[in-house]
Amino acid sequence: MSEPLVPIIERDDSGPYLVGTRCRACEHVFVGPREACARCTERESLESLRLADSGRVYVWTVVHRSFPGVATPFIDAIVDLDDGSHLKGTLADIDPDAVTFDLPVRVEFREEIPAGETLPYLTYVFVPSKETGDE
Ligand SMILES: [Zn+2]
Repeated sequence: MSEPLVPIIERDDSGPYLVGTRCRACEHVFVGPREACARCTERESLESLRLADSGRVYVWTVVHRSFPGVATPFIDAIVDLDDGSHLKGTLADIDPDAVTFDLPVRVEFREEIPAGETLPYLTYVFVPSKETGDE
């Protein structure tokens, strides 16, 4: 089984998912673990949660130059997840000219093998939601 590329990916019997933190005091949701709420500074009321697997594109750019071994162009996007958190990642399976503000997307997990490597790693991408028909 491939290793997650980032520590916010966890697995259970249903497969991989993204983890975050919810502040019970102010209801704000963050990506990944937190020691304190960045919104209200509360430290005692944080709980881990499984992040939403769908959201909408807030902003994006097309990347034409990247690190050696990273295929370009690709779309780098910040997505507002349906639970209120915000996550940056690659938007895949769509023509860059077809991306729009507020585009519905879902989180998909993929195994990728970096150039020059032999072992795959597990990562996430955003893909257009099925109901938009933008595949
Ligand atoms: Zn808070």
